[in-house]
Amino acid sequence: MKRVGAHVSASGGVQNAPLNAIEIGARAFALFTKNQRQWRARPLTEEQIEQFQNNMTQGGFRPCDVLPHDSYLINLGNPDKEAREKSLTAFIDELERCRQLGLVYLNFHPGSYLRKIDETACLDLIVESLNRALEATEGVSAVIENTSGQGSNLGYRFEHLAHLIDGVEDKSRIGVCLDTCHTFTAGYDLRTRETYDATMQSFDEIVGFEYLKGMHLNDSKPELGSRVDRHESIGKGRLGLDPFRFIMQDQRLDEMPLILETTDSTIWSEEIALLYSFACM
Ligand SMILES: [Zn+2]
Ligand SMILES: [Zn+2]
Repeated sequence: MKRVGAHVSASGGVQNAPLNAIEIGARAFALFTKNQRQWRARPLTEEQIEQFQNNMTQGGFRPCDVLPHDSYLINLGNPDKEAREKSLTAFIDELERCRQLGLVYLNFHPGSYLRKIDETACLDLIVESLNRALEATEGVSAVIENTSGQGSNLGYRFEHLAHLIDGVEDKSRIGVCLDTCHTFTAGYDLRTRETYDATMQSFDEIVGFEYLKGMHLNDSKPELGSRVDRHESIGKGRLGLDPFRFIMQDQRLDEMPLILETTDSTIWSEEIALLYSFACM
């Protein structure tokens, strides 16, 4: 079965996220477990955790149907040691919040070299941070998201994802999330049967489908290979509908969270219904 959802609001508390997902007909969802633009957050209360789990049950969501996203401030590859340590502390706190909620994933962007060191040196710093974070926590896997490669963000080549996985000691707690907009704007085409198959084959050869834990389904405002990260509603951008048909008919993507981060949240329920209609063909 395909499990489509969206990155829903957790405003008023994390316990509201599953309810917001139920409302749009989602079988999966993403959320921020804290304010994504602030370093500090109040700890989760017992009551919030209990309500979150009750609402998970109400929606029929399993832990692996949820793909929490970390704060935008975190850069595990920051060349500045003090800034990198601050990121690591925040990342460990986010892994811990996920565990408290009974969840199993934390989705994150690899990091940025800030034009101060080379890409490989930055990837190695990210590996070091990941190993320390996984050692300090338990139960939750770190899920690396591929990026558009905007600015100095790493993770825009499948080789970057493979480099990170390669360096992580506990391979049972590392995974990846492919974002369709990021994949496309990083230069991997998905618009025809041939290009979709070629991109996915290349992903399988370089990274491996066994590491794929979820996807972000976004159409793209910018063109192929533009290295610009701007999402668009499904079918309204440069990708068009075909890539989403291929995804919904790709059995390798069954039973994993397929998350909309599209720009118009008022049409998420329609987008979800449209995507499910592709799966039945
Ligand atoms: Zn994404
Ligand atoms: Zn994006």
